[in-house]
Amino acid sequence: LELRIKQLEGVSVRRFPDVKFLNYRTRKRILITGGAGFVGSHLVDQLMMEGHEVIVVDNFFTGRKRNVEHWIGHENFELIHHDIVNPLFIEVDEIYHLASPASPQHYMFNPVKTIKTNTVGTINMLGLAKRVGARVLIASTSEVYGDPEVHPQPETYWGHVNPIGPRACYDEGKRVSESLSYAYAKQEKVQVRVARIFNTYGPRMHMNDGRVVSNFILQALRNEDITIYGHGDQTRSFQYVSDLVEGLVSLMASNYSQPVNLGNPVEYGIKDFAKKIRDLVGGRSKLAFSDAVEDDPQRRRPDISVALKQLKWQPKVTLQQGLKKTIDYFHKELLRSSHSNRN
Ligand code: NAD
Ligand code: UDP
Ligand code: UDP
Repeated sequence: LELRIKQLEGVSVRRFPDVKFLNYRTRKRILITGGAGFVGSHLVDQLMMEGHEVIVVDNFFTGRKRNVEHWIGHENFELIHHDIVNPLFIEVDEIYHLASPASPQHYMFNPVKTIKTNTVGTINMLGLAKRVGARVLIASTSEVYGDPEVHPQPETYWGHVNPIGPRACYDEGKRVSESLSYAYAKQEKVQVRVARIFNTYGPRMHMNDGRVVSNFILQALRNEDITIYGHGDQTRSFQYVSDLVEGLVSLMASNYSQPVNLGNPVEYGIKDFAKKIRDLVGGRSKLAFSDAVEDDPQRRRPDISVALKQLKWQPKVTLQQGLKKTIDYFHKELLRSSHSNRN
Protein backbone atom coordinates (compact mmCIF):
# COMPACT_ATOMS: atom_id res chain seq x y z
CA LEU A 1 0.00 0.00 0.00
CA GLU A 2 2.80 2.38 0.89
CA LEU A 3 4.31 1.80 -2.54
CA ARG A 4 0.95 2.42 -4.19
CA ILE A 5 0.53 5.69 -2.30
CA LYS A 6 4.02 6.74 -3.33
CA GLN A 7 3.18 5.89 -6.93
CA LEU A 8 0.04 7.98 -6.71
CA GLU A 9 2.03 10.83 -5.19
CA GLY A 10 4.48 10.42 -8.05
CA VAL A 11 1.65 10.87 -10.52
CA SER A 12 0.36 14.00 -8.80
CA VAL A 13 3.75 15.73 -8.94
CA ARG A 14 4.51 14.49 -12.42
CA ARG A 15 6.24 17.02 -14.66
CA PHE A 16 5.37 17.34 -18.33
CA PRO A 17 7.74 18.74 -20.96
CA ASP A 18 7.43 22.55 -21.23
CA VAL A 19 5.00 23.07 -24.08
CA LYS A 20 4.81 26.40 -25.91
CA PHE A 21 2.05 28.74 -24.77
CA LEU A 22 -0.39 29.69 -27.51
CA ASN A 23 -3.29 32.12 -27.03
CA TYR A 24 -6.81 31.12 -28.01
CA ARG A 25 -6.44 32.68 -31.46
CA THR A 26 -3.47 30.53 -32.50
CA ARG A 27 -4.12 27.38 -30.46
CA LYS A 28 -5.94 24.71 -32.43
CA ARG A 29 -7.95 21.65 -31.42
CA ILE A 30 -6.39 18.86 -33.43
CA LEU A 31 -7.72 15.33 -33.84
CA ILE A 32 -5.21 12.59 -34.64
CA THR A 33 -6.81 9.28 -35.58
CA GLY A 34 -4.37 6.43 -34.99
CA GLY A 35 -2.45 8.74 -32.66
CA ALA A 36 -1.36 5.90 -30.37
CA GLY A 37 0.51 4.23 -33.25
CA PHE A 38 4.08 4.64 -34.42
CA VAL A 39 3.82 7.74 -36.66
CA GLY A 40 0.80 9.19 -34.85
CA SER A 41 2.51 9.27 -31.46
CA HIS A 42 5.46 11.25 -32.86
CA LEU A 43 3.00 13.68 -34.44
CA VAL A 44 1.28 14.00 -31.04
CA ASP A 45 4.62 14.98 -29.47
CA GLN A 46 5.27 17.63 -32.12
CA LEU A 47 1.80 19.24 -31.94
CA MET A 48 1.71 19.10 -28.12
CA MET A 49 5.12 20.78 -27.91
CA GLU A 50 3.82 23.50 -30.28
CA GLY A 51 1.11 24.23 -27.69
CA HIS A 52 -1.99 22.84 -29.43
CA GLU A 53 -4.84 20.81 -27.93
CA VAL A 54 -4.49 17.26 -29.17
CA ILE A 55 -7.19 14.61 -29.19
CA VAL A 56 -6.13 11.08 -30.03
CA VAL A 57 -8.72 8.59 -31.24
CA ASP A 58 -7.49 5.00 -31.46
CA ASN A 59 -8.90 1.48 -31.16
CA PHE A 60 -5.49 0.10 -30.07
CA PHE A 61 -5.40 -2.54 -32.79
CA THR A 62 -1.71 -1.89 -33.40
CA GLY A 63 -1.27 1.22 -31.26
CA ARG A 64 -0.36 1.31 -27.57
CA LYS A 65 -1.18 3.62 -24.68
CA ARG A 66 2.51 3.46 -23.83
CA ASN A 67 3.32 5.51 -26.96
CA VAL A 68 1.44 8.53 -25.59
CA GLU A 69 1.42 7.84 -21.85
CA HIS A 70 3.84 10.73 -21.20
CA TRP A 71 0.98 13.13 -22.08
CA ILE A 72 -1.82 11.46 -20.14
CA GLY A 73 -3.06 13.96 -17.54
CA HIS A 74 -1.81 17.02 -19.45
CA GLU A 75 -4.58 19.61 -19.78
CA ASN A 76 -4.08 19.92 -23.57
CA PHE A 77 -4.27 16.17 -24.19
CA GLU A 78 -7.14 13.73 -24.54
CA LEU A 79 -7.13 10.03 -25.42
CA ILE A 80 -10.34 8.44 -26.72
CA HIS A 81 -10.74 4.69 -27.20
CA HIS A 82 -12.87 4.55 -30.32
CA ASP A 83 -13.05 2.68 -33.60
CA ILE A 84 -13.35 5.14 -36.50
CA VAL A 85 -15.53 2.73 -38.46
CA ASN A 86 -18.22 4.13 -36.13
CA PRO A 87 -19.27 7.79 -36.37
CA LEU A 88 -17.55 10.28 -34.10
CA PHE A 89 -19.00 13.60 -33.04
CA ILE A 90 -16.51 16.10 -31.65
CA GLU A 91 -15.51 19.69 -32.42
CA VAL A 92 -12.04 20.19 -33.91
CA ASP A 93 -10.15 22.57 -36.22
CA GLU A 94 -7.89 20.04 -37.93
CA ILE A 95 -7.86 16.27 -38.45
CA TYR A 96 -4.81 14.14 -39.16
CA HIS A 97 -6.37 10.88 -40.31
CA LEU A 98 -3.76 8.16 -39.69
CA ALA A 99 -5.88 5.30 -38.34
CA SER A 100 -5.14 2.15 -40.36
CA PRO A 101 -2.86 -0.80 -39.85
CA ALA A 102 0.30 -0.12 -41.88
CA SER A 103 2.50 -3.19 -41.80
CA PRO A 104 1.65 -5.95 -44.32
CA GLN A 105 1.31 -8.53 -41.52
CA HIS A 106 -1.15 -6.34 -39.67
CA TYR A 107 -3.26 -5.22 -42.61
CA MET A 108 -3.50 -8.76 -44.00
CA PHE A 109 -4.56 -10.13 -40.60
CA ASN A 110 -8.13 -8.91 -41.15
CA PRO A 111 -8.42 -7.61 -44.72
CA VAL A 112 -12.14 -6.80 -44.45
CA LYS A 113 -11.50 -4.64 -41.40
CA THR A 114 -8.61 -2.92 -43.20
CA ILE A 115 -10.94 -2.01 -46.06
CA LYS A 116 -13.66 -0.82 -43.67
CA THR A 117 -11.19 1.35 -41.76
CA ASN A 118 -9.91 3.00 -44.94
CA THR A 119 -13.33 3.46 -46.57
CA VAL A 120 -16.07 3.76 -43.90
CA GLY A 121 -13.56 5.23 -41.42
CA THR A 122 -12.42 7.82 -43.94
CA ILE A 123 -16.03 8.70 -44.82
CA ASN A 124 -16.67 9.33 -41.12
CA MET A 125 -13.63 11.60 -40.82
CA LEU A 126 -14.61 13.50 -43.98
CA GLY A 127 -18.19 13.76 -42.70
CA LEU A 128 -16.86 15.13 -39.42
CA ALA A 129 -14.60 17.58 -41.30
CA LYS A 130 -17.58 18.70 -43.40
CA ARG A 131 -19.80 19.28 -40.35
CA VAL A 132 -17.28 21.28 -38.32
CA GLY A 133 -15.38 22.93 -41.22
CA ALA A 134 -12.08 21.29 -40.27
CA ARG A 135 -9.15 20.75 -42.62
CA VAL A 136 -8.29 17.07 -42.96
CA LEU A 137 -5.00 15.41 -43.86
CA ILE A 138 -5.23 11.82 -45.09
CA ALA A 139 -2.27 9.50 -44.53
CA SER A 140 -2.07 7.77 -47.88
CA THR A 141 0.83 5.61 -48.99
CA SER A 142 3.35 4.80 -51.69
CA GLU A 143 1.39 1.53 -52.00
CA VAL A 144 -1.10 3.42 -54.20
CA TYR A 145 1.62 3.04 -56.87
CA GLY A 146 1.58 -0.77 -56.34
CA ASP A 147 4.45 -2.56 -58.07
CA PRO A 148 5.48 0.51 -60.08
CA GLU A 149 6.43 0.57 -63.74
CA VAL A 150 7.66 4.16 -63.42
CA HIS A 151 10.76 4.88 -61.37
CA PRO A 152 11.13 6.96 -59.23
CA GLN A 153 7.43 7.53 -58.59
CA PRO A 154 6.00 11.03 -59.16
CA GLU A 155 2.52 11.95 -57.91
CA THR A 156 1.28 11.99 -61.51
CA TYR A 157 1.82 8.21 -61.85
CA TRP A 158 -1.49 6.33 -61.58
CA GLY A 159 -0.01 3.13 -60.23
CA HIS A 160 0.04 -0.60 -60.90
CA VAL A 161 -2.04 -2.34 -58.24
CA ASN A 162 -3.45 -5.86 -58.22
CA PRO A 163 -7.05 -5.27 -57.05
CA ILE A 164 -7.55 -8.84 -55.82
CA GLY A 165 -4.10 -9.71 -54.42
CA PRO A 166 -3.13 -10.06 -50.76
CA ARG A 167 -2.12 -6.38 -50.50
CA ALA A 168 -5.30 -5.11 -52.16
CA CYS A 169 -7.16 -4.47 -48.89
CA TYR A 170 -4.57 -1.84 -48.03
CA ASP A 171 -3.59 -0.51 -51.46
CA GLU A 172 -7.12 -0.22 -52.79
CA GLY A 173 -8.38 0.93 -49.39
CA LYS A 174 -5.96 3.85 -49.52
CA ARG A 175 -6.80 4.57 -53.15
CA VAL A 176 -10.50 4.82 -52.23
CA SER A 177 -9.51 6.98 -49.28
CA GLU A 178 -7.87 9.40 -51.73
CA SER A 179 -10.86 9.28 -54.12
CA LEU A 180 -13.21 10.00 -51.20
CA SER A 181 -11.09 12.97 -50.15
CA TYR A 182 -11.30 14.63 -53.56
CA ALA A 183 -15.00 13.79 -53.89
CA TYR A 184 -15.68 15.54 -50.54
CA ALA A 185 -13.42 18.42 -51.60
CA LYS A 186 -15.30 18.91 -54.87
CA GLN A 187 -18.84 18.23 -53.69
CA GLU A 188 -18.79 19.45 -50.08
CA LYS A 189 -15.88 21.95 -50.18
CA VAL A 190 -13.97 20.05 -47.49
CA GLN A 191 -10.33 21.18 -47.34
CA VAL A 192 -8.23 18.07 -47.89
CA ARG A 193 -4.51 17.35 -47.85
CA VAL A 194 -3.17 13.99 -49.05
CA ALA A 195 0.26 12.70 -47.98
CA ARG A 196 1.61 9.70 -49.89
CA ILE A 197 3.93 8.33 -47.25
CA PHE A 198 6.88 6.11 -48.22
CA ASN A 199 8.52 3.55 -45.88
CA THR A 200 9.13 5.20 -42.52
CA TYR A 201 11.05 3.90 -39.51
CA GLY A 202 12.10 4.98 -36.03
CA PRO A 203 11.53 4.40 -32.31
CA ARG A 204 8.07 3.11 -31.28
CA MET A 205 7.75 0.85 -34.30
CA HIS A 206 6.04 -2.27 -33.06
CA MET A 207 8.53 -5.04 -32.17
CA ASN A 208 6.41 -7.71 -33.90
CA ASP A 209 5.00 -5.78 -36.80
CA GLY A 210 6.98 -7.78 -39.35
CA ARG A 211 8.25 -4.78 -41.31
CA VAL A 212 11.73 -4.95 -42.65
CA VAL A 213 13.39 -2.41 -40.33
CA SER A 214 12.10 -3.90 -37.08
CA ASN A 215 12.69 -7.48 -38.29
CA PHE A 216 16.29 -6.89 -39.38
CA ILE A 217 17.29 -4.87 -36.30
CA LEU A 218 15.79 -7.39 -33.88
CA GLN A 219 17.36 -10.32 -35.73
CA ALA A 220 20.76 -8.60 -35.72
CA LEU A 221 20.51 -7.72 -32.02
CA ARG A 222 19.62 -11.34 -31.18
CA ASN A 223 22.32 -12.76 -33.50
CA GLU A 224 19.60 -14.61 -35.41
CA ASP A 225 19.54 -15.12 -39.18
CA ILE A 226 18.38 -12.04 -41.09
CA THR A 227 15.39 -13.14 -43.18
CA ILE A 228 15.42 -11.85 -46.75
CA TYR A 229 12.30 -12.54 -48.81
CA GLY A 230 13.34 -13.43 -52.37
CA HIS A 231 16.80 -12.53 -53.68
CA GLY A 232 16.91 -9.20 -51.84
CA ASP A 233 17.27 -7.23 -55.09
CA GLN A 234 13.99 -5.42 -54.47
CA THR A 235 14.50 -1.86 -53.28
CA ARG A 236 12.99 0.51 -50.76
CA SER A 237 13.76 4.08 -49.63
CA PHE A 238 13.57 4.71 -45.90
CA GLN A 239 12.71 7.95 -44.13
CA TYR A 240 13.18 8.67 -40.46
CA VAL A 241 9.99 9.47 -38.57
CA SER A 242 10.92 13.03 -37.51
CA ASP A 243 11.32 14.00 -41.18
CA LEU A 244 7.87 12.62 -41.93
CA VAL A 245 6.29 14.51 -39.02
CA GLU A 246 7.78 17.78 -40.29
CA GLY A 247 6.42 17.02 -43.75
CA LEU A 248 2.92 16.24 -42.44
CA VAL A 249 2.76 19.45 -40.40
CA SER A 250 3.93 21.61 -43.31
CA LEU A 251 1.53 19.92 -45.71
CA MET A 252 -1.37 20.59 -43.35
CA ALA A 253 -0.36 24.27 -43.17
CA SER A 254 0.17 24.70 -46.91
CA ASN A 255 -2.29 25.80 -49.59
CA TYR A 256 -1.40 22.86 -51.80
CA SER A 257 -4.27 20.36 -51.96
CA GLN A 258 -3.03 17.74 -54.46
CA PRO A 259 -1.28 14.56 -53.23
CA VAL A 260 2.31 14.98 -52.03
CA ASN A 261 4.96 12.24 -51.75
CA LEU A 262 6.75 12.28 -48.39
CA GLY A 263 9.76 9.99 -48.33
CA ASN A 264 13.51 9.81 -48.46
CA PRO A 265 14.78 9.39 -52.03
CA VAL A 266 17.89 7.42 -51.04
CA GLU A 267 17.23 3.89 -52.31
CA TYR A 268 18.64 0.59 -51.02
CA GLY A 269 18.49 -2.99 -52.20
CA ILE A 270 17.06 -5.09 -49.37
CA LYS A 271 20.16 -7.33 -49.27
CA ASP A 272 22.48 -4.30 -48.89
CA PHE A 273 20.12 -2.89 -46.31
CA ALA A 274 20.41 -6.10 -44.28
CA LYS A 275 24.22 -5.89 -44.38
CA LYS A 276 24.13 -2.24 -43.35
CA ILE A 277 22.02 -3.03 -40.31
CA ARG A 278 24.21 -5.99 -39.37
CA ASP A 279 27.33 -3.79 -39.60
CA LEU A 280 25.77 -1.07 -37.45
CA VAL A 281 24.60 -3.55 -34.82
CA GLY A 282 27.88 -5.44 -35.02
CA GLY A 283 26.40 -8.92 -34.51
CA ARG A 284 27.18 -12.32 -36.04
CA SER A 285 23.90 -12.79 -37.98
CA LYS A 286 23.94 -14.58 -41.32
CA LEU A 287 21.72 -13.62 -44.25
CA ALA A 288 18.99 -16.24 -44.87
CA PHE A 289 17.05 -16.18 -48.14
CA SER A 290 13.48 -17.48 -48.33
CA ASP A 291 10.66 -17.44 -50.90
CA ALA A 292 9.61 -14.06 -52.27
CA VAL A 293 6.28 -12.75 -50.99
CA GLU A 294 3.35 -12.42 -53.40
CA ASP A 295 2.95 -9.08 -55.20
CA ASP A 296 5.99 -7.58 -53.45
CA PRO A 297 6.76 -4.23 -55.14
CA GLN A 298 10.19 -4.59 -56.76
CA ARG A 299 11.38 -0.98 -56.71
CA ARG A 300 10.28 2.01 -54.71
CA ARG A 301 11.71 5.50 -54.49
CA PRO A 302 9.82 8.77 -54.17
CA ASP A 303 10.17 11.67 -56.53
CA ILE A 304 9.95 14.48 -53.95
CA SER A 305 10.13 17.49 -56.26
CA VAL A 306 6.53 18.49 -55.40
CA ALA A 307 7.27 18.51 -51.65
CA LEU A 308 10.44 20.47 -52.26
CA LYS A 309 8.67 23.07 -54.40
CA GLN A 310 5.37 23.37 -52.53
CA LEU A 311 6.49 22.81 -48.92
CA LYS A 312 10.23 23.55 -49.08
CA TRP A 313 10.50 20.14 -47.47
CA GLN A 314 13.14 17.48 -47.80
CA PRO A 315 14.39 14.83 -45.38
CA LYS A 316 17.29 15.79 -43.10
CA VAL A 317 18.12 12.63 -41.18
CA THR A 318 20.57 10.22 -42.82
CA LEU A 319 19.95 6.48 -42.72
CA GLN A 320 23.01 6.07 -40.50
CA GLN A 321 21.73 8.59 -37.91
CA GLY A 322 18.17 7.29 -37.98
CA LEU A 323 19.14 3.63 -37.75
CA LYS A 324 21.40 4.32 -34.76
CA LYS A 325 18.48 5.85 -32.84
CA THR A 326 16.18 3.00 -33.87
CA ILE A 327 18.71 0.30 -32.93
CA ASP A 328 19.17 1.99 -29.56
CA TYR A 329 15.38 1.96 -29.05
CA PHE A 330 15.02 -1.75 -29.90
CA HIS A 331 18.00 -2.61 -27.72
CA LYS A 332 16.23 -0.96 -24.76
CA GLU A 333 12.96 -2.67 -25.64
CA LEU A 334 14.67 -6.07 -25.60
CA LEU A 335 16.20 -5.35 -22.19
CA ARG A 336 12.83 -4.18 -20.96
CA SER A 337 11.00 -7.30 -22.15
CA SER A 338 13.64 -9.67 -20.76
CA HIS A 339 13.44 -7.78 -17.45
CA SER A 340 9.63 -7.99 -17.30
CA ASN A 341 9.76 -11.70 -18.21
CA ARG A 342 11.98 -12.31 -15.18
CA ASN A 343 9.54 -10.57 -12.82
P1 NAD B 1 0.61 1.90 -36.75
O1 NAD B 1 0.01 0.56 -36.98
O2 NAD B 1 1.71 2.02 -35.76
O3 NAD B 1 -0.51 2.95 -36.37
C1 NAD B 1 -1.83 2.90 -36.84
C2 NAD B 1 -2.74 3.29 -35.70
O4 NAD B 1 -4.12 3.26 -36.13
C3 NAD B 1 -2.65 2.33 -34.50
O5 NAD B 1 -2.52 3.07 -33.32
C4 NAD B 1 -3.97 1.56 -34.57
O6 NAD B 1 -4.37 1.06 -33.32
C5 NAD B 1 -4.90 2.61 -35.15
N1 NAD B 1 -6.08 2.05 -35.81
C6 NAD B 1 -6.13 1.07 -36.76
N2 NAD B 1 -7.41 0.84 -37.12
C7 NAD B 1 -8.19 1.70 -36.41
C8 NAD B 1 -9.59 1.93 -36.34
N3 NAD B 1 -10.47 1.23 -37.09
N4 NAD B 1 -10.05 2.87 -35.47
C9 NAD B 1 -9.19 3.58 -34.70
N5 NAD B 1 -7.85 3.40 -34.73
C10 NAD B 1 -7.36 2.46 -35.57
O7 NAD B 1 1.09 2.40 -38.19
P2 NAD B 1 1.96 3.68 -38.60
O8 NAD B 1 3.20 3.18 -39.21
O9 NAD B 1 2.03 4.64 -37.48
O10 NAD B 1 1.05 4.28 -39.76
C11 NAD B 1 0.21 5.41 -39.57
C12 NAD B 1 -0.45 5.80 -40.88
O11 NAD B 1 0.55 6.13 -41.85
C13 NAD B 1 -1.30 4.69 -41.49
O12 NAD B 1 -2.46 5.27 -42.06
C14 NAD B 1 -0.43 4.12 -42.58
O13 NAD B 1 -1.18 3.57 -43.61
C15 NAD B 1 0.36 5.35 -43.03
N6 NAD B 1 1.65 4.97 -43.62
C16 NAD B 1 2.68 4.53 -42.84
C17 NAD B 1 3.88 4.15 -43.43
C18 NAD B 1 5.04 3.66 -42.62
O14 NAD B 1 6.07 3.28 -43.21
N7 NAD B 1 4.98 3.68 -41.31
C19 NAD B 1 4.01 4.21 -44.82
C20 NAD B 1 2.92 4.64 -45.58
C21 NAD B 1 1.75 5.03 -44.97
N1 UDP C 1 -20.09 11.74 -39.35
C1 UDP C 1 -19.35 11.63 -38.19
N2 UDP C 1 -19.17 12.74 -37.43
C2 UDP C 1 -19.69 13.96 -37.76
C3 UDP C 1 -20.42 14.07 -38.96
C4 UDP C 1 -20.63 12.94 -39.73
O1 UDP C 1 -18.87 10.57 -37.85
O2 UDP C 1 -19.46 14.90 -37.00
C5 UDP C 1 -20.31 10.56 -40.17
C6 UDP C 1 -21.76 10.31 -40.42
O3 UDP C 1 -22.23 9.35 -39.50
C7 UDP C 1 -21.81 9.77 -41.83
C8 UDP C 1 -20.46 10.09 -42.44
O4 UDP C 1 -19.73 10.80 -41.45
O5 UDP C 1 -21.96 8.37 -41.85
C9 UDP C 1 -20.54 10.95 -43.66
O6 UDP C 1 -21.15 12.16 -43.35
P1 UDP C 1 -21.93 12.97 -44.46
O7 UDP C 1 -22.47 14.20 -43.81
O8 UDP C 1 -21.09 13.16 -45.63
O9 UDP C 1 -23.04 11.95 -44.92
P2 UDP C 1 -24.54 11.72 -44.48
O10 UDP C 1 -24.61 11.86 -42.98
O11 UDP C 1 -25.28 12.77 -45.19
O12 UDP C 1 -24.82 10.35 -44.95
N1 UDP D 1 11.37 -7.92 -46.20
C1 UDP D 1 12.36 -8.91 -46.06
N2 UDP D 1 12.47 -9.51 -44.85
C2 UDP D 1 11.70 -9.21 -43.78
C3 UDP D 1 10.68 -8.22 -43.92
C4 UDP D 1 10.56 -7.61 -45.17
O1 UDP D 1 13.11 -9.20 -47.00
O2 UDP D 1 11.89 -9.81 -42.70
C5 UDP D 1 11.27 -7.23 -47.50
C6 UDP D 1 9.87 -7.28 -48.12
O3 UDP D 1 9.73 -8.43 -48.92
C7 UDP D 1 9.84 -5.99 -48.92
C8 UDP D 1 10.72 -5.02 -48.13
O4 UDP D 1 11.52 -5.86 -47.28
O5 UDP D 1 10.43 -6.19 -50.20
C9 UDP D 1 9.93 -4.04 -47.28
O6 UDP D 1 8.94 -4.76 -46.55
P1 UDP D 1 8.02 -4.09 -45.43
O7 UDP D 1 7.10 -5.16 -44.96
O8 UDP D 1 8.84 -3.39 -44.42
O9 UDP D 1 7.21 -2.93 -46.17
P2 UDP D 1 6.52 -2.75 -47.59
O10 UDP D 1 7.29 -1.68 -48.23
O11 UDP D 1 6.59 -4.04 -48.38
O12 UDP D 1 5.13 -2.38 -47.26
